[in-house]
Amino acid sequence: MQVQQNISLLPYNTFGIDAKAEQLLVVTDKAQLAAIANNSTLPKEKHIIGGGSNILLTHDVPGLTLLNQLKGIELIKEDDAHVWVQVASGEVWHEFVLYAIDHDWGGVENLSLIPGTVGAAPMQNIGAYGVEAKEVIETVTAWHWEEQKFLTYTNEECHFGYRDSIFKHELKEKVFITDVVFKLDKEHSFNTNYGAIQQELDSAGVKELSIKAISNAVIAIRSSKLPNPKEIGNAGSFFKNPVIAKEHFEQLLQEHPEIPHYPVDDTNVKVLAGWLIEQCQFKGIKRGHTGVHEKQALVLVNRGGANGQEVWELSEEILQTVHSKFGIMLEREVQIW
Ligand code: FAD
Ligand code: NAP
Repeated sequence: MQVQQNISLLPYNTFGIDAKAEQLLVVTDKAQLAAIANNSTLPKEKHIIGGGSNILLTHDVPGLTLLNQLKGIELIKEDDAHVWVQVASGEVWHEFVLYAIDHDWGGVENLSLIPGTVGAAPMQNIGAYGVEAKEVIETVTAWHWEEQKFLTYTNEECHFGYRDSIFKHELKEKVFITDVVFKLDKEHSFNTNYGAIQQELDSAGVKELSIKAISNAVIAIRSSKLPNPKEIGNAGSFFKNPVIAKEHFEQLLQEHPEIPHYPVDDTNVKVLAGWLIEQCQFKGIKRGHTGVHEKQALVLVNRGGANGQEVWELSEEILQTVHSKFGIMLEREVQIW
């Protein structure tokens, strides 16, 4: 095991923050995890980075940072309607999506081009264009640092919610996710009524719907709309869309009849965090080395040389301003380190 000391994490986070890991180790084999746990010379404190596309480094990272590069995709079972595919957690999410589409396995096409690794997908139950990872995840297997063994969690045991799971709560920092088993469809049901998918399919002249056509449409929309971390550091949506009680929403509607919203169930309504932030005049602002993206108020950006602390401070200012204007406390989606 080759442990590197005092290493910059700049290449390993899409925000482009130049914080250092006290120690860094690349994980390429599951057997390393037991060896790491049993090695008394290694720090007890451990952190895991996949693609680094959902973290904000607000300081140097103490202890041992593990960079996940576990690889492998295996078809483990199939019947007439479905396949069960086991994917190692260090696989790049979008490459797995393309692999599924190449094999004509449906279910993840709407999640095309989401950055990061397969192992982080259950963490926040990644979602886009009306589909969430929880709809296709069968099980998640992880190395448990305290129990010193691999444990497999069923979909139900993962407690998936809106951009949420058990891995953000009870199991936070307690496990290293090693494999995810996905149940994908051989017979496809298409989901095209979210956002601009149908419009994109029409303008591309698609006559026959397929999972490949949907993936291409999602890729085209995302590439035209979302800030590319290679050009400007960011971690996607910094805040979650808040889900509020219907009574609270109805009060807001009196004052802001134009408020964009989507019903969640009989008692709750989702409002758009991006709209709330825009109403507070943050869209496009510049603050030192950081700021809010010009076209996406949900996305905080590194305008060059930002440190994590200043991004965090801007996020705090946004939280407080939105709270005092609308009585809604936004929640950060990005993991703060
Ligand atoms: P990292 O940032 O490396 O890690 C995130 C968290 O998960 C950390 O706390 C880390 O410790 C933990 N973690 C990572 N791997 C493991 C593991 N193997 N075991 C245990 N814990 C682990 N998200 C969406 O849901 N939908 C989107 O449409 C979307 N679009 C995005 C667009 C852009 C431009 C960007 C930059 C981000 C976007 N995101 C989106 C957020 C991000 O891509 C996802 O959250 C993704 O799943 C993060 O994967 P990662 O490997 O980069 O995780
Ligand atoms: P969009 O399609 O312009 O939609 C704006 C917002 O409206 C999204 O936040 C979305 O909520 C919501 N929305 C749109 N249609 C909806 C419907 N039919 N029912 C319920 N909610 C609806 O959004 P965008 O910014 O271009 O992003 C497209 C998709 O990619 C979204 O699903 C978004 O979540 C996802 N995305 C996520 C991140 C991230 O970092 N988490 C970054 C970029 C894009 P939801 O967000 O709840 O879907």
